[in-house]
Amino acid sequence: LEIEFANLEARVPKKYPQIKSLNYLERKRILITGGAGFVGSHLVDRLMFQGHEVIVVDNFFTGRKRNVEHWIGHKNFELIHHDIVNPLFIEVDQIYHLASPASPPHYMLNPVKTIKTNTIGTINILGLARRVHAKVLIASTSEVYGDPDIHPQPETYWGHVNPIGPRACYDEGKRVSETLSYAYAKEHNIEVRVARIFNTYGPRMHMNDGRVVSNFILQALQNDVITIYGSGKQTRSFQYVTDLVDGLVALMASNYSLPINLGNPVEHTINEFATIIKDLVGGSGKIIHLAEVEDDPQRRRPDISRAKKYLNWEPQVSLAVGLQRTVDYFRKELKKFNYSSNNKFI
Ligand code: NAD
Ligand code: UDP
Repeated sequence: LEIEFANLEARVPKKYPQIKSLNYLERKRILITGGAGFVGSHLVDRLMFQGHEVIVVDNFFTGRKRNVEHWIGHKNFELIHHDIVNPLFIEVDQIYHLASPASPPHYMLNPVKTIKTNTIGTINILGLARRVHAKVLIASTSEVYGDPDIHPQPETYWGHVNPIGPRACYDEGKRVSETLSYAYAKEHNIEVRVARIFNTYGPRMHMNDGRVVSNFILQALQNDVITIYGSGKQTRSFQYVTDLVDGLVALMASNYSLPINLGNPVEHTINEFATIIKDLVGGSGKIIHLAEVEDDPQRRRPDISRAKKYLNWEPQVSLAVGLQRTVDYFRKELKKFNYSSNNKFI
């Protein structure tokens, strides 16, 4: 036993990234559900750097420990393996509720579970917020607008969603999540913030999540064909993840309680996007068109006047800069894991 203790002492202590020092009045205990996922892990970094105590709750469905491993063991950080469909008892000041699969192939894999996560899971989180008087931010989505017939989409638009289509488990799940938030706010007087997040990309996106950014980058890096679903005339507007994190933190700090769009209004057709990625990455892959996806929203672009007015927020990172960082990350990941596109995730 003595020898074992000696070995432990001899171990080199883990080096953590430098954080700001806050006194106990400034330092908040912040829960991030889904904090081991793509967006959540960037939010963890931001709040840790600011000097707060951060607790991540995640069931690792689409998230990974390695997204937050650089904080494991830090005195301000805690990682809890827990499914938010089950109640959670914990004491916190603020909650960022991000737990939910986000990519269509992931959320369609088990639609009932997606609905449970966004309904029962959200009830559990709102119940927790009520009990401990925490301020709670719900990660909603541009998908609440469905296949929109108003363009660009302002927050006042009620949406155009097929309630029984393949995307409904997510779209309707998030719509209920919003409804629950305002019902709890009204009935139980809790402070809610609702972010309607538009397509977001960046390092730590799941390599094989089936979304357009990861698919096109991987395909281009591996000289595979670039697969456009349908005509490619459908549009999306892509925001870099650190811009989103700025917006989430600003929204949590604000007094604004109605939903707010967080997205980058620069819009591209998927055809244009394929060419942008191909030009950026190089490679000899051809661009091909496959069958269109059922209920695929045809146009999507956020109206961000609200965020500008109430949060003084707008995206800062251009598509060229953000994509370059993402491509660099994917390139490194490919090398590290000897990745093959046949190794489909889940
Ligand atoms: P992600 O899949 O990388 O992260 C989601 C995280 O939630 C994962 O770590 C996953 O393991 C966890 N999770 C899922 N179900 C859970 C459950 N039942 N209990 C506990 N943890 C659970 O996705 P992301 O892109 O980081 O998205 C984060 C949030 O932002 C989601 O709520 C998503 O709906 C929303 N959002 C994201 C985008 C985007 O483009 N990334 C767009 C709109 C909305
Ligand atoms: N898409 C595509 N090829 C792919 C993946 C996606 O053409 O390999 C299209 C998809 O049909 C949609 C757009 O890209 O029109 C964005 O899809 P994604 O799954 O990234 O996100 P969504 O905004 O649909 O949730």
